[in-house]
Amino acid sequence: MPWREDPEPYKVWVSEIMLQQTQVATVTPYFERFMARFPTVFVLAAADLQAVLEIWQGLGYYSRARNLHKAAVWVVKERDGVLPRLSSEWQALPGIGPYAAGAIASISFGEVVPAVDGNVVRVFARLLGIRKDSTLPAVRRALTAEVTRCIAPRRAGDFNQAVMELGALVCKPRNPVCEGCPLQRWCEAHAKGLTATLPVRPTRKPVPHMDVAACVIRRGPRILIARRRPDQMLGGLWEFPGGKQEPGETLEQTAVREIDEEIGIHIRVRRQLGAIRHAFSHFKMTLHVFECTPVKGRARAVTVDAVKWVSIPELRTYPFPAADQKIITWLETDR
Ligand code: SF4
Repeated sequence: MPWREDPEPYKVWVSEIMLQQTQVATVTPYFERFMARFPTVFVLAAADLQAVLEIWQGLGYYSRARNLHKAAVWVVKERDGVLPRLSSEWQALPGIGPYAAGAIASISFGEVVPAVDGNVVRVFARLLGIRKDSTLPAVRRALTAEVTRCIAPRRAGDFNQAVMELGALVCKPRNPVCEGCPLQRWCEAHAKGLTATLPVRPTRKPVPHMDVAACVIRRGPRILIARRRPDQMLGGLWEFPGGKQEPGETLEQTAVREIDEEIGIHIRVRRQLGAIRHAFSHFKMTLHVFECTPVKGRARAVTVDAVKWVSIPELRTYPFPAADQKIITWLETDR
């Protein structure tokens, strides 16, 4: 992990944000590209958000990139670029909760604070044999208090990283490797054969699914793209415009209605190019992609942030979400 070699606060901060909901192997190349492009908080603050989103493209959870950029601007403006030391100060920055604040402050400055992520919850719930729902706030508080009590005072950063890593590599969600675990002789779950049932979690609700129409609107060699509003999910990213199917509509009708509402033009749907399935954390979607031509009106940003007519080779110079990047690949291969 490149950020482990030098626990400089800026690097630890960026790495911790990237690692949220994302595996180390995925993060590593993104982290290296990010550091090469934005080596200091000053460079990051001076950068355009679009440039940050471009580097983040494909990593997902784009609000992390927007918050990172916003926080860098704030740190440079309000603190002359001096990063906070204390976990409580880190939590005042956008996008930083107790876990990230604890990780950064303990790893970079040795503050004796816990950093409780899912891995740490799993290790401690098993170690202590906690049979209550580990997502309940009271249970989470009790777990955090236990973690805090155990922190090695002079090596808080090492302690937090060690427990996280134990959870990721040894005390895994399924089939924990108890034989190689240094906590085995104190572990209640191991002693009582409860490793498969702890930690206790609420039963998951089924993930909703939605059908979405996306339009590749062609005018000669150019294609219309739209930028999502900053307050929306995937805000600041570009997309092939469209939207969610409403009850009673065909997908072609959805395409026509959405483009009328979002871009202010009337289109004709020519053919379906294909369908892409994509899963987000809280819903799944099937993106039905249509090739369309404009019939009436002039494209303008009605409910989107911006619109542009671009050539196919230019598409790669804009940040797009993962599903839309597949459409770009189709267009490049002349689908
Ligand atoms: Fe996890 Fe097994 Fe170690 Fe207990 S002994 S902490 S269940 S890996």
